[in-house]
Amino acid sequence: MFFSKSKYCSFWQCPKITWLDKFKPEEKEIDTSLAARLSTGNEVGDLAMTLFGNFVETTTLSEDNHLDYSAMIQKTADEVAKGTENICEAAFSYNGLYCAVDILHKEKGGYAIYEIKSSTHLNYIYLVDVAYQKYVLEKSGITVTGTYLVNINNKYVRHGDINVKELFFIQDVSGLLQEEYDKIEENLKCADEILNNETEPNIDISDKCTSPYSCAYWKYCTKHLPTPNVFDVYRLGIGKKFKYYNDGIISFEELEKHGHLDYKQTRQIDYYLHDKGTYIKKDGIKKFLDTLSYPLYFLDFETMQSVIPQFDGTRPYQQIPFQYSLHYIESEGAPLKHKEFLAESGENPLRAIAESLCANIPMNVCTLAYNKKFECGRIKELAEIFPDLSKHLLNIERNIKDLLVPFQKGYYYNKAMGGSFSIKSVLPAIFPDDPSLNYHNLDGVHNGSEAMTIFPLIKDMPKEEQSIARKNLLKYCELDTFAMVKIWQKLISLI
Ligand code: SF4
Repeated sequence: MFFSKSKYCSFWQCPKITWLDKFKPEEKEIDTSLAARLSTGNEVGDLAMTLFGNFVETTTLSEDNHLDYSAMIQKTADEVAKGTENICEAAFSYNGLYCAVDILHKEKGGYAIYEIKSSTHLNYIYLVDVAYQKYVLEKSGITVTGTYLVNINNKYVRHGDINVKELFFIQDVSGLLQEEYDKIEENLKCADEILNNETEPNIDISDKCTSPYSCAYWKYCTKHLPTPNVFDVYRLGIGKKFKYYNDGIISFEELEKHGHLDYKQTRQIDYYLHDKGTYIKKDGIKKFLDTLSYPLYFLDFETMQSVIPQFDGTRPYQQIPFQYSLHYIESEGAPLKHKEFLAESGENPLRAIAESLCANIPMNVCTLAYNKKFECGRIKELAEIFPDLSKHLLNIERNIKDLLVPFQKGYYYNKAMGGSFSIKSVLPAIFPDDPSLNYHNLDGVHNGSEAMTIFPLIKDMPKEEQSIARKNLLKYCELDTFAMVKIWQKLISLI
């Protein structure tokens, strides 16, 4: 058996993950956000290493660029023998169990474990992780004098260089670990048995499949279920989904007969099972359209988020708008016009985007956004940061109307929406055959998370790639507001 702390945590979530990792790893779904999360974790880890001043890092790479565990374990042993104050990535192994401690900090009588997490709160799985580390260290002959979690303080606001003491907050979790610590030997015995048995463990899906992490074997473990099924019902809580599943009410047919669902969920099933075409509530749509007026603007932001604040005045995980697209029609029958903004990658975009919004959207005009909570939130934040622009910005914000409303209120529905009101579901449901409205036909950027990943990388690209990436971002964001225009026009045509 070779167990790392992440493998132990996977086993803790569900023993079948451990078995599938060994016997059917090809069934695992690829996690497209893994690389980005690892790179964020590394950045946060590197910064946190400086928490206690000078440190020695044991990370060693082999010739083929993989972690050299043996070298790291040896280096750690050497540093412990020297009495080094802070050892980062301190590696230990015991009886096939391996772990690397983020920061091993010398205290009176031994060493304390500091586990660094990019999250802002305590999650129970972190205790499982730290308990495992404590076990491996103690078995390796280290006296563990304390166990701590280092989390991100989301109240921290950057001013100048990052202040690591303020960016991170440290929690003593020593008193919370015992229960998990006591289960380790039994868990390891069970893991060993599972790994030495070629028969797949008989473990059915449960709420463990989504907590603490969404399991990458979900598709494999649900392949026996009909499509669609109870897990496809939109906005039904996971607890209720498993309740139906455990009661054998799984297919849409069974849910139609025995389910107690709300109006929108019932309609999703009804429209899926029966050929009902499109539901249109004309008076509702008219009432919504009557709230709009010319000149009419259509606004959409793209934002990025960073655990370590990149710019002065910003907090960890703050949504930073770096781009917008703006379509507008000055009067009834007037041509559709377009303006846009895309900041320079690597520079603080906030002042420039705030000024550009004020320059391009006059006061007292009606602006449409799709799910306006997001756009309104960003504009309010800009108004707080730049008091000289706040009057204009808050005027824009106050006059934003939400194109989501007719769909959220159920004035328009068809089967292709699958119960969802997001623009990515509504658009293809209304225009199934229009290639100009198909995000898959775009180059390079197809959704908001790709946009937020690519934008910060542009600054380090060669010139030619930079201009391609910027062009792709502009095209993507433009399609977002063009899609809103098309949806609005469709609503008009319906009444
Ligand atoms: S999908 Fe659920 S049952 Fe299947 S391996 Fe993952 S956690 Fe276990």
